[in-house]
Order: sequence, then C-alpha cells, then structure tokens
Amino acid sequence: MNKGKLIVFSAPSGSGKTTIVKHLLGQEDLNLEFSISAASRAPRGEEVDGKDYYFISLEEFKKHIKAEDFLEWEEVYRDNFYGTLKSEIERIWALGKNVIFDIDVVGGLRIKHKFPEETLAVFVKPPSVDELKRRLKQRSTESEDKINMRIAKASVELATAPQFDVIIKNYDLSVALEEAHQLVKDFINK
Ligand code: 5GP
Repeated sequence: MNKGKLIVFSAPSGSGKTTIVKHLLGQEDLNLEFSISAASRAPRGEEVDGKDYYFISLEEFKKHIKAEDFLEWEEVYRDNFYGTLKSEIERIWALGKNVIFDIDVVGGLRIKHKFPEETLAVFVKPPSVDELKRRLKQRSTESEDKINMRIAKASVELATAPQFDVIIKNYDLSVALEEAHQLVKDFINK
C-alpha cells in the first residue's frame, strides 16, 4: 500500500486543537482525511457516530485490545478508552490521502515512535492553564467534575510538549491556523 503522511495534533483538552484540525481538513491542498478514533465514552452535544468517533462499548473496546486491532490506545480518563484502529489508517491510505489525528499526547507520541519518518507530531499550546479552564467552562458540555479532571491532566500533558516535532502556540487563533497550515504543507511536500 502507498503510505501517506501522518499528521498528529496533540494537546490538553480545550487548547483549540480540534478547531485547528477541522480547519486543516478544509484545505484541499493538504489532501487530509480525519482519523476517526474508537471511544468508549458517550457522544457529547452534536457528535455523530462514525464521524467524530466510532462510539463503542467498553466491552467491545476491550475485545479490540485483545485482538490487537489498535495501532495505539489509551485510557485517557478513568473508564474512558480511546484508540486508533489499524484499519482506520489502512482505510485512509487506500484513499491515497494523508491522515490527520486529534489525539492525546501519549497516543500522539506513540504514533511518532511507530512511524518516525512519516509522522509530523504537533503540540498545541494554550496560553495558560487559567485560559484552558475558561474555555472548558465556556464549552459547558460537561459536568464540573469532568472539567476538573481534564484540567488536572493538562499540567502533565503540557510537560510533554518538548518531545513533539513542533509546538504551535494557540494564543491568537488566526495566527495558529496559518502557522499550522504552512507547517503541514511543508511537511507533506518535503
Ligand atoms: P474528548 O473526550 O475531549 O473527545 O477526548 C479526550 C482526549 O482523548 C483528547 O485529548 C483526545 O484528543 C484524545 N483522543 C481522541 N482519540 C484518541 C485516540 O485514538 N487515541 C488516544 N490516545 N487519544 C485520543
């Protein structure tokens, strides 16, 4: 199979990485397709099964782990499992496209280690933990408890930033979008 490139965007929840990934998916020159992860949590807000995630039960998720169907998987939050199915990458490469991932820092680095040449691993840095808190509260799709759980994890995640190929500071969204586009463009045309 002709391998495309793997573009990984990782960051603490609320950093704006999903917004950046969605923007890049709209740029035809990048020829990107979103890697739909499997997740054991319930859909939030407007999320659609088979588009945002493959929403599966915890039991089904564990069956996939046993069968070694995952390229990487992680218990990102307690009892909330997320993972990239090997079949997902094959599906996208078969389309002749590059894969873009919106995944947690551990998963992102795992993909980088498995495919060092093909992967561009990008870390999206929020202005501050306070700003992260504000954004998560504003999103208000989750309980206070869940928000606090995400914030607690953010400091640990921020410490992994130097292990990525590049860090994008998302202080001003339009600047971050432009920078992300240029970075990905340079990488896939290299
Ligand atoms: P959320 O519940 O906000 O959609 O996602 C929670 C976290 O799990 C985010 O940091 C998201 O990027 C990450 N995530 C989503 N899919 C995957 C995946 O396939 N693997 C890993 N390791 N993390 C993922």
